[in-house]
Amino acid sequence: MFSNLQDKLDRAFKVLKGQGNITEINVAETMKEIRKALLDADVNYKTAKTFTDDVRQKALGENVLTSISPGQLLTKIMNDELTELMGGTVTELDLSANPTVILIAGLNGAGKTTFTGKLANFLKEQKGKKPLLVAGDVYRPAAIDQLQVLGNQVGVPVYVDRDSTDPIAIAKAGVEEGKRNGNNVIIIDTAGRLAIDEALMNEITAVKEVTQPNEILFVVDSMTGQDAVNTAKTFNDRLDFTGVVLTKLDGDTRGGAALSIKSVVNKPIKFIGTGEKMEALDVFHPDRMASRILG
Ligand code: GDP
Repeated sequence: MFSNLQDKLDRAFKVLKGQGNITEINVAETMKEIRKALLDADVNYKTAKTFTDDVRQKALGENVLTSISPGQLLTKIMNDELTELMGGTVTELDLSANPTVILIAGLNGAGKTTFTGKLANFLKEQKGKKPLLVAGDVYRPAAIDQLQVLGNQVGVPVYVDRDSTDPIAIAKAGVEEGKRNGNNVIIIDTAGRLAIDEALMNEITAVKEVTQPNEILFVVDSMTGQDAVNTAKTFNDRLDFTGVVLTKLDGDTRGGAALSIKSVVNKPIKFIGTGEKMEALDVFHPDRMASRILG
């Protein structure tokens, strides 16, 4: 779906570079091509339009028309603009509270449980923290097993209560357990659903209320295109999350979802998942994603 974005941009730039004399019309046509390419990459229409309008203005303002290498200058302008749109710089987690409670939310299959393990590993290894994982996905016993396996793998304890089917009580008890044991970060994995439904939203809102998280991270599969944006909007409307985690960026997606989600919900993307292994987690760098989107 995303793989031909670079081809299209290349073609658009070739058109631009091929002209001895570049006119405003050429720039407008190139912007149209770029907008089409962004739409094909699942960037939503409004975002793509705002982006190309801004770039066009800047391109004309910076005399792209008379520059020696208009293609290069335009690429730089686009890169800068995309970087800015995706937040400009890295947004770190706020780990100032002791303990810091982090709630993980998202649909089934998005990569929540995997990310929960990765985050515990990251905080332990890179930030010197002492995390506790809380297994809050009570509807899928396999999810509890999976979290325990991951916890073992990264050497982080997991709070489990197999006798309870109440995710709210488990989350609350998990936080208390963490406080008792001196864990300075408590990460709560929550249940998802295949699609958004009212029961899920009510449940996760209740978990938020009882645990008062410092960070709420919304996990979304970057390969789900426009659906990713819609899901992000619904979760944000209900939860007012503090950051986004884009998973499965090791696939061939160009990352258009990063741009759309940021511009629709206006929350920072904090991490990206780049594989199934516990180490396959990166802090989100807007400039790197801009280069990736542009190919
Ligand atoms: P959950 O239902 O949201 O908890 O999702 P899981 O954590 O169980 O992940 C669903 C599937 O996606 C599993 O097979 C994971 O191994 C896989 N997965 C999760 N994150 C990534 C990622 O960043 N890259 C790839 N390739 N696979 C991932």
